[in-house]
Amino acid sequence: MAAKPRVHILGTGGSISGIGPHRLDYTLYPDVGKKLTVQQMLERIPEARELAEVSGEDVLQVGSPSIGPKEWLQLADRIHAVFASADAVKGIVITHGTATLEETAYFLHLTVKSDRPVVLTGAMRPPSALGSDAELNLLDAIRLAAAPEAAGRGVLTLLNNEIQSARDVTKSNAFRVDTFESRDFGVLGYVDSDARVLFYRSVTRPHTTGTPFDVRGRKDLPRVDIVYSYAGADGVLVDALTARRPDAMVLVGFGGGSYPGAFLEAGRRAVQANIPVVLATRSWNGRVVSTPRKDADGFIVCDDLMPQKARILLMLALTVTRERQAIQEMFYKY
Ligand code: ASP
Repeated sequence: MAAKPRVHILGTGGSISGIGPHRLDYTLYPDVGKKLTVQQMLERIPEARELAEVSGEDVLQVGSPSIGPKEWLQLADRIHAVFASADAVKGIVITHGTATLEETAYFLHLTVKSDRPVVLTGAMRPPSALGSDAELNLLDAIRLAAAPEAAGRGVLTLLNNEIQSARDVTKSNAFRVDTFESRDFGVLGYVDSDARVLFYRSVTRPHTTGTPFDVRGRKDLPRVDIVYSYAGADGVLVDALTARRPDAMVLVGFGGGSYPGAFLEAGRRAVQANIPVVLATRSWNGRVVSTPRKDADGFIVCDDLMPQKARILLMLALTVTRERQAIQEMFYKY
């Protein structure tokens, strides 16, 4: 019999590892419950051994609101080390809280220098609760990470049987198990109840080995903040941020790229203060487009990235260049 593919799990915490006080607890477990280790999570799904030779380690044991740039770098280092190790690991699964799962996934999508599958999964209901999605999501993620078809597609997410691209996926609902969506573009495929891994589409934008972003050995990342606009927003928050001199900022406006006048005026002051400013939108789908005026003002537009993902691409762009046109091209490319 052929040897089973080897899959390595990196645990970070989140609901997928949470044990609450009783079976009807869906909210208190992060504060009053316990957290399972990766080993304990694997003991609850002995079926995983039929799919792959599975190993694992606990990199972190936190809720994902506590995961940010420092932890992204830590995970990227760990992934590179695992893939570089003598053992032929075919794929990696990261267990992660759902709150910031899409951000960690997109950061890794742009920075992991390997074609091998990296799959993030989480759960909307802890494994201790009735109707939990935790164990099936983990099993499906292992199946996906072991599948040859998953290679070369960038970082993927797997929850609710759905395979999605890290670039497009976002959490759309605070409580439902079908919370992850890829907006206009839809899912890439399924890991379905007949245990098949099926892809129906591919990502077209470059990722992983196809980007110039190499964070190996980095200890930190440029600081980029986001300011959200609303009817009647003025420039107070943008000016306050400019005074703190971030490395860059993302300004979130309306539709295809309109902003309250005083808010945008403050954005112009930031550009004049030599702070790169990316214009994004609070609309769920679609692009922010440039105009001759925005170009002349020196703004960069985010194309169709959601603000939290535009921030990540901007942080990485700044590791390579500070040239406005070069950064703008990256927003059309990645
Ligand atoms: N609070 C949790 C987190 O770590 C939520 C979850 O995992 O779904 O993001």
